[in-house]
Amino acid sequence: MPDSTNSLPLALLRRAATAVVQWFDSDYCPDGAEVMRNEPDRVDWVRVMPFVFLHAGCLGVIWTGTSAFAVWTAVALYFIRMFAVTGVHHRYFSHKTYSTSRFGQFLLAIFAGTTVQRGSLWWAYHHRHHHLHSDDPEDAHSPHVHGFWWSHIGWITSRRNFPTDYTKIKDLAKFPELVWLNRFDLVVPILFAFSLFGLGEVLAAQAPQLGTNGWQLLVWGFFISTTFLFHGTGCINSMAHLMGRRRFKTTDDSRNSAILALITLGEGWHNNHHRYQSSTRNGFYWWEFDPTYYGLKLLSFTGFIRGLKPVPRSVLEEGAHADHHASVEAAIKSAQAHPHYSSLRRVVPTAAAIAVATATANQAMLPQKADGPAVHKDVTELAHELKTRGPENPPVI
Ligand SMILES: [Zn+2]
Ligand SMILES: [Zn+2]
Repeated sequence: MPDSTNSLPLALLRRAATAVVQWFDSDYCPDGAEVMRNEPDRVDWVRVMPFVFLHAGCLGVIWTGTSAFAVWTAVALYFIRMFAVTGVHHRYFSHKTYSTSRFGQFLLAIFAGTTVQRGSLWWAYHHRHHHLHSDDPEDAHSPHVHGFWWSHIGWITSRRNFPTDYTKIKDLAKFPELVWLNRFDLVVPILFAFSLFGLGEVLAAQAPQLGTNGWQLLVWGFFISTTFLFHGTGCINSMAHLMGRRRFKTTDDSRNSAILALITLGEGWHNNHHRYQSSTRNGFYWWEFDPTYYGLKLLSFTGFIRGLKPVPRSVLEEGAHADHHASVEAAIKSAQAHPHYSSLRRVVPTAAAIAVATATANQAMLPQKADGPAVHKDVTELAHELKTRGPENPPVI
């Protein structure tokens, strides 16, 4: 009969040994990946050590010091690799919003591997799952279900979220080269870190005026830049379902935020994206800053990628109408809130003007005349109705 006092430490030891092997072979699951995925959420401290090490490595700056070159390298690598997160992990592997050759896809997966956010297949599997279960209890990183910190960072430390379910991403799992990169997901980051160290050493010898060296570039270009990159990306999981405006009434609580779009190169237009995931652009209108899309568009001119998918006109029109109604509603609410300063008579033209301006701006984005006249007609009718009803009985929008 097994002694429980002995078997518990043994089980813990076995679990720790498994986690260490998984650092290097992320598909290693002696009890089966399905068993792991069905466990309750629990932080696996041994498995998560490389991630802790990534953060701790930032402290290396105490010994390596700083140079302008190293800092700018870190900034540049943040944005270049944010492009890899958004343009490759997300808009290619997760949603297939454009096409490329098989070899091109392999290069993209290596590029995305430098972001140190596991393999592209793991990323795509979890992201597709998020879209299927957004903000319901199944969603691994909903701030509404699990809280802010779990959605930002906690969920990736949980044992159940480590394995990739290849059956859910069959379109990607059929490529052995992608599965290999996903399974051994530390290979690319290690090579990337060594390259930075090597570059720093070469510069120290060949261009000493830059004041940098291998260790300094390793700390700034790899540890600090990657840690910021992780938290910038994490903001989409945590903040993009909490902060900003909801243009589309999706079944989740996704939001559009210009601030998040700035730090994530366009991913902040998250409500747009939840409304229509297949488009290469997340910023649906010209004023929604989406550098990832601009970069992909430029790349498409080289022929390396092709078939960028547009936002359907019906979705653009739906958004334009939603903006129009939101503007009119806001103007009328403001008139009702401040009747002494702004009588309805004086506000009517303001509301109509805001509505017309919004509708015109939105219509200007549409490829053809679409429903432009209909939107203007709505506003004209609204103004007319306001005139005939008088200020005491504003129409219902
Ligand atoms: Zn989301
Ligand atoms: Zn997505």
